[in-house]
Amino acid sequence: MTTTALETVAHWIGGERLQDASRYGEVTDPATGAVTRRVAFADAAEVDRAVAAAQAGFEAWSVQSLTKRSNVLFRFREILAANTGEMARVITAEHGKTVEDAKGEVQRGLEVVEFACGAAHLMKGEASEAVATGVDSHSLRQPLGVAVGITPFNFPAMVPMWMFPIALACGNSFILKPSEKDPSASLLMADWLAEAGLPDGAFNVVHGDVETVQTLLRHPGVASVSFVGSTPVAKSIYETATAHGKRVQALGGAKNHAVVMPDADVDIAADAIASAAYGSAGQRCMAISAVVAIGPAGDAVAEALEARVDAVRVGPGAEEGSDMGPLVTGAARERVLGAIEAGVGEGAELRRDGRGVSVSGHEDGFWVGPTLFDRVTSEMSVYRDEIFGPVLVVLRAETFDEALDLVNRNPYGNGAAIFTTDGRTAREFEQRVQAGMVGVNVPIPVPMAYYSFGGWKQSLFGDLHVHGREGVLFYTRGKVVTERWPEQRSGADYGFPAHK
Ligand code: NAD
Repeated sequence: MTTTALETVAHWIGGERLQDASRYGEVTDPATGAVTRRVAFADAAEVDRAVAAAQAGFEAWSVQSLTKRSNVLFRFREILAANTGEMARVITAEHGKTVEDAKGEVQRGLEVVEFACGAAHLMKGEASEAVATGVDSHSLRQPLGVAVGITPFNFPAMVPMWMFPIALACGNSFILKPSEKDPSASLLMADWLAEAGLPDGAFNVVHGDVETVQTLLRHPGVASVSFVGSTPVAKSIYETATAHGKRVQALGGAKNHAVVMPDADVDIAADAIASAAYGSAGQRCMAISAVVAIGPAGDAVAEALEARVDAVRVGPGAEEGSDMGPLVTGAARERVLGAIEAGVGEGAELRRDGRGVSVSGHEDGFWVGPTLFDRVTSEMSVYRDEIFGPVLVVLRAETFDEALDLVNRNPYGNGAAIFTTDGRTAREFEQRVQAGMVGVNVPIPVPMAYYSFGGWKQSLFGDLHVHGREGVLFYTRGKVVTERWPEQRSGADYGFPAHK
């Protein structure tokens, strides 16, 4: 079948689907390896059109009352909740993760929508009476204008929902540039926002690759850019977009550690770590990819992890009974296989090898089975690089301080977890670890929507994390009003105006 005979994933601009394009990308089903759709890529003219639509959308949306905006988001929440299954199936067909996992992703996105419904509370200004004689002051938080979101393949619904519900609640319009690998979830969200009563142009979707992104970053009509993806891209997006005067938050990659203390319950720790390492085939920015086991915990944890790996059922995400689906693309599979090969070459001990895994009836799917390396050192590439696949490495340390030093020397700082039964050790870890999100006996410490999500160091470029209070700060700007209502003239005064 040629790709032109395939269904096209269209842009959504100003309330209309537009599918004609000069370039297209291919979308595959990761469980079969088959090309299932093509996706239109926006060139400069389409980006111009999307920005113009979003500017018009901003005019219409930003003047609506906080209550009206909130009502639209409430309705969107209801539609999304009622159609979680449909959204999950669309995600699984393009991403490959299990349907249950996809439902979980939609649920975490819903929580941000719920938070956004009440976000007016965080847009309140402050007021002071009589800052000088007869003079009052108050502050406002106002929307920025056209906000852009550029999102990764691994959470095609949740990551956009970290952004647009809050951007919209604050009165901005939004242009989403989702991942070209699994673009269809974005159109469901567009349809449901329209059904919920959002005016045309307040939410738009343009698909594309680096070329489309570069045009968005430089466009004079764009006020802000929120990015989530890999570190090299996050860094370059931050640099280009700030150089073009945009407000930017760019979340990057990760290498999340789990420190296992000798006093930890090994079974509890191994269950949690295996789920966090191999769920979604390791394609989560908060996946645990490195275990640092202290002293005697090393052998015990490695053995316990082996037992969990042996029990993982690899299979199509749409089939009940699968614990772990395929990787997103053939290229991702090749990259992960290469990383495993490099680990073997560097002398890491390969305790479980996922390279030969194949799924009967789905031989062309992008499979890599759960893989476990032991006795890995901090110089090895399997530790240094973000692999973004089902590959877990175990490092050994003698003391807590040695383990903490190792975690803190890593250039990434997204999440970090400790497994222990000792409160004092947990508290020390929590205080001293250099990561934005910390778990104590919790392997994937993703904050609730009313806290903010974001890492430190190479995992975030910018100042403000996403959602929660920081999300509202990101999507609004401050204004302070000073006012006087004089009853009579006091004459011109050429001195510097000081309040008396
Ligand atoms: P990616 O960086 O390849 O792509 C992310 C987005 O940027 C996509 O929309 C893509 O089209 C676009 N893009 C890709 N290359 C570009 C370039 N050179 N210039 C401009 N735009 C470009 O990431 P991915 O493979 O889709 O997602 C996986 C990565 O995302 C992992 O590194 C993961 O850790 C990271 N991630 C981070 C978080 C977080 O919260 N920190 C959350 C989810 C994913």
